[in-house]
Amino acid sequence: MSMSSHYKYLWYTLLPLFMLSTIILSSCQKDDADNQVSIQPIDKSKDLSIIFLMGDGMGIAQLTAAWHSNHYLQMENFPYTALVRTQAANRFVTGSAASATAMMCGQKTNYGFLGIDTQQQSLQTLYEYLKTKGYQTGIISSSMITDASPAALYTHRPNRKNYEAVALDFYYNPPDIAYGGGNTYFTDRTDGKQLLDSLAQKGFQVYDNASNITEASSLPLVCFPYPLYPPMLLDGRPKDMEIATKKALSLLEPPFFLFVESGLIDHGGHNTNIDEQVSETLEFDQLCGYALQYANTHKNVLVLVTADHECGGLSLLQNESDDMTYTPHYAIDEHSGNMVPLFAAGTGAHLFTGMIDNTEIHQRILQALGN
Ligand SMILES: [Zn+2]
Repeated sequence: MSMSSHYKYLWYTLLPLFMLSTIILSSCQKDDADNQVSIQPIDKSKDLSIIFLMGDGMGIAQLTAAWHSNHYLQMENFPYTALVRTQAANRFVTGSAASATAMMCGQKTNYGFLGIDTQQQSLQTLYEYLKTKGYQTGIISSSMITDASPAALYTHRPNRKNYEAVALDFYYNPPDIAYGGGNTYFTDRTDGKQLLDSLAQKGFQVYDNASNITEASSLPLVCFPYPLYPPMLLDGRPKDMEIATKKALSLLEPPFFLFVESGLIDHGGHNTNIDEQVSETLEFDQLCGYALQYANTHKNVLVLVTADHECGGLSLLQNESDDMTYTPHYAIDEHSGNMVPLFAAGTGAHLFTGMIDNTEIHQRILQALGN
């Protein structure tokens, strides 16, 4: 036997073994993967609770920077992932109003529009739909409660910046628990209305400090500690978001719809400030962890984590003076049209995969609800 035919002999003898081992290995890997990614099927007879977490302005680069700051993210533990296109009906680069409306109503609308279509016709939001089904609801934001993302749940207006009108809409269409900034629009209004007093008359407990709501043992309640935007974490914002989110998860009765927005990741992008974006993203990630823990210990809970758009056109470039670190590069102090990530866990989470449009989030939620 020559050397080359010897190798040929070995090749033909061993090839089937290689193939067999490859098949065994790949089938093991598939089994392992199946074990890790267990599908929690939808039971149409049971009402599904939904925890929707939105990182305003949180793109892939912000997540990458947050991961490298902490070397771990709670979001790693979500078994299903998708990429989401964010474009508005009339503009490539969207804003919170049009994007949150797309997710809450399932239709593209114009830049700056809230809860209405391009013809300015009112759309029923997911929040309103679930309220008609008897769901309890919560809206928690580190931005103003009247800012575009939370407002996309409860208002229908072509001008997102008409905050006094939005606050009035909140009064008429309130959740069972709310936390956020913007109390000026409830208490210091041009029409003289005192909306926090009016909410108290409706039976709401009204708090002006998040640490006080730890004592609350019942709903409904609102807590609006800041006149306008809450401060950045780096400027001393206390752990209000953690307190409010945990309180909501402990007091809301299933089935419920809880919306949690980390609003200031976006401001960090407008400020082209990587430290602000990373710290706000890490706090948001912790809240995602609490939601995931809730879903892991309760039945019929879907947790979704996504963003309305990216902010800053951030990319992480090689730091030329340190091989293993990056230099943040902001292309702009505005939003970009990049796709954003989505993570899903719990019942129906398997519906949230692939490359999807932001309106499809709404459609898939309805599917998860058994519609
Ligand atoms: Zn923004």
